[in-house]
Amino acid sequence: MYNVQELRRVLKSRGACLLAHNYQRPEVQDAADFVGDSLELSLKALESDARIVVFAGVDFMAEQAAILNPDKTVIHPEPLSVCPMAAMLTVDIVREYKEKYPGSPFVVYVNSSASVKALADYVVTSANAVKLVSQLDAEPVLFGPDRHLAEYVAEKTCKEVVPVPDFGHCPVHAVILRGDLVEAKKKYPDAKVLAHPECSSEVRKLADFVGSTSQMIKAAVELGSNEYVIATEIGMLHRLGKLGLRAYPASSYAVCVNMKMITLDSVVESLSSGKGVVKVDPKIAAKAKEAIVRSFELLGVEGPWSKS
Ligand code: SF4
Repeated sequence: MYNVQELRRVLKSRGACLLAHNYQRPEVQDAADFVGDSLELSLKALESDARIVVFAGVDFMAEQAAILNPDKTVIHPEPLSVCPMAAMLTVDIVREYKEKYPGSPFVVYVNSSASVKALADYVVTSANAVKLVSQLDAEPVLFGPDRHLAEYVAEKTCKEVVPVPDFGHCPVHAVILRGDLVEAKKKYPDAKVLAHPECSSEVRKLADFVGSTSQMIKAAVELGSNEYVIATEIGMLHRLGKLGLRAYPASSYAVCVNMKMITLDSVVESLSSGKGVVKVDPKIAAKAKEAIVRSFELLGVEGPWSKS
């Protein structure tokens, strides 16, 4: 069993950096060079000088890092750590909706496979979906796979947004119910509520702030309360706790078991064995990268693609 310091030594000896999502186990977050949401981690992978990037997140996140960093070795330490919501949007479903809505822009959430991204016009995260869709001048906008995020984007942009497929959802956010928040508000009357847009509209309506995990952290600092109820995956409790804030889960059932599969030992094991190197078909990677870069350009995200 490795501890945080031992893992840090292994990473240093291999010239590797560890990027961890906000939903990772506390000790994996503590061992990481950087902890953040999908967008931040993609950009950190690009900025890093390390030749090996170990990605502590689910499959699509590591895949996106590999697509954006073809000259780096991206390692996903646990192949079983996959996102069930991403699997709800298949290439066949994308093709079916594209045929049904010719000319409509197809926006996919980063929580999707490389093959799906390769068919998309734009790729967004929960941090920038509203901003990107608000800049599109065609309607309806096709958006998948999360129907709750699609609905949130429609509310915020006043555009017609078609969820693709109509059943796409995150099972972790689906267990957070309106009644859970009503109870939590009674139990912690001074706490502000932070919710992820993957939550249902009933839950979002009871929140003081709705945003991506990193936007929630920023909001927690800005809202100035000492107590927060968190309507998202419980890994966020550790992040907010490290800022000296008291945070309570809206539901203790909101655990992403896929995110929790990665351990300090599995990171060391993947570095030692060379297993878990992420490979994406070059043609699919090139098409997916086009959609990602097109989105970054529209959003004004700076990177190697920026024109000086
Ligand atoms: S929290 Fe939900 S969307 Fe995120 S990886 Fe887990 S299942 Fe997928």
